[in-house]
Amino acid sequence: MVDDLQTKRGWNFENSYSHLPQKLFTKQAPEPVENPKLVILNKALSEELGLDVQYLKSTGLNVLVGNSIPEGAYPLAQAYAGHQYGYFTMLGDGRAILIGEHITPKGERFDIQLKGSGRTPYSRGGDGKAVLGPMLREYIISEAMYKLGIPTTRSLAVVTTGENILRERILPGAILTRVASSHIRVGTFQYIYHYGNIEDLRLLTDYTILRHYLEFISDDDKYFLFLKGVVHRQAKLIAKWQLVGFVHGVMNTDNMLISGETIDYGPCAFMDIYNPNTVFSSIDRYGRYAYKNQPKIAAWNLARFAESILPLLHNEQEKAMKIANEAISDFEKIYYKYWLKGMRKKLGLFGEEPEDEAIIIELLNIMEKYKADYTNTFRELTIGKLSSANIYNSSEFIDWSEKWKERLNKQNESKEESKNLMKMNNPSVIPRNYRVEEALSAAVENNDYCKLQGLLDVLSNPYEYSVEQEEYAKLPPQSHIPYITYCGT
Ligand code: AMP
Ligand code: MG
Repeated sequence: MVDDLQTKRGWNFENSYSHLPQKLFTKQAPEPVENPKLVILNKALSEELGLDVQYLKSTGLNVLVGNSIPEGAYPLAQAYAGHQYGYFTMLGDGRAILIGEHITPKGERFDIQLKGSGRTPYSRGGDGKAVLGPMLREYIISEAMYKLGIPTTRSLAVVTTGENILRERILPGAILTRVASSHIRVGTFQYIYHYGNIEDLRLLTDYTILRHYLEFISDDDKYFLFLKGVVHRQAKLIAKWQLVGFVHGVMNTDNMLISGETIDYGPCAFMDIYNPNTVFSSIDRYGRYAYKNQPKIAAWNLARFAESILPLLHNEQEKAMKIANEAISDFEKIYYKYWLKGMRKKLGLFGEEPEDEAIIIELLNIMEKYKADYTNTFRELTIGKLSSANIYNSSEFIDWSEKWKERLNKQNESKEESKNLMKMNNPSVIPRNYRVEEALSAAVENNDYCKLQGLLDVLSNPYEYSVEQEEYAKLPPQSHIPYITYCGT
């Protein structure tokens, strides 16, 4: 059924991806849903996309569950490959349908993808479905990331389908509408490199440059610059994760977007106590994707990306490898530059002094030793009101504070300016795992969305330092430690 009212309601679909080589996708309509019920709609995002909120809540709901296909859309499932926990495998959208690319009134292009809308040729043994809890979890965390200023895919809506889905028990089925600059992954390039020819690879690469790295399109060295651009954006992204204590949990190459946005909110979580070895995911037994490993893993994934575009970098393989290595080896220093810059801001430091690095590292070491909460330590240093946490009574911390103060006194900026810089860079609230669980369980078990709404409200302004946020800054009760996450299915 074509929704003929859609043009009036703001949808403005194109489907440029469907013009790429056929290998890259399979035309696939979402599976219709019998009893759709909107449980959450992102009004701010609807407006940014130029969509009518009232329409989305009524007839527009049909688009959000795939019962109605807007004009200009061309639903498809994307093929991709990926290294999962280091092993190469063939993947693809097993439970997601890209319905098309929506062009906003400002002319920006966003993929509109329905996650949980039925089986595709890439589903393998899966049912192609998604359940309510994990979709709400993706909604909360992706929106929190966005508000923290971290590039990410976003969530437009979660709709229950009325279906009962069998997981470890029967759970309510749901569909998440995911909005992304694109869903082109490192794994998309790995797929075309393995299963396509060089012409296919060139078409995908030129398409991606046009879509995300337009500044390089006319350059003779566009493929090298593209690779460097991807490295740069990833380095910047991972630095942002590290600075807020975000652990992605499943940094497989299929979960890394070429646009530089964060994707796949499965087993991710924010670190409470500062511990570089933090791992939340139940299946990450060897800590491959631990907090401290994220930069290294990103560089490893980027090396897999570089390998996939090697034939475009130079005709001679050896020369191509040299070019690729040059780009990849930049990762570490770009990452470190962003991380250091961010850490200076977290401590209210303007300018650059030779002792900055030592001051930052010393604090992190003390935090680790005294099992200090990552977010709250920076929060308390920002407001200048230290809690009763052990760390603050330690001689190490007292010595460190002296060094920090000395450094602050060196700069011309006032205390107030320093404090403001810290406020802008240390969130006063993050999606604490126990708060997220509490909100999800009320929603899923009791159909009560008050806690979820309350959480989304405080997370919508994470640098506000408001009174309401104080409650949400509280540490988890002992019963919630350790926190374990599961791959959201
Ligand atoms: P993820 O862990 O979310 O990155 O998923 C890995 C792969 O499994 C992706 O290709 C997904 O599309 C696929 N997948 C996850 N859950 C399902 C499901 N319920 N049915 C079919 N495919 C799935
Ligand atoms: Mg994934």
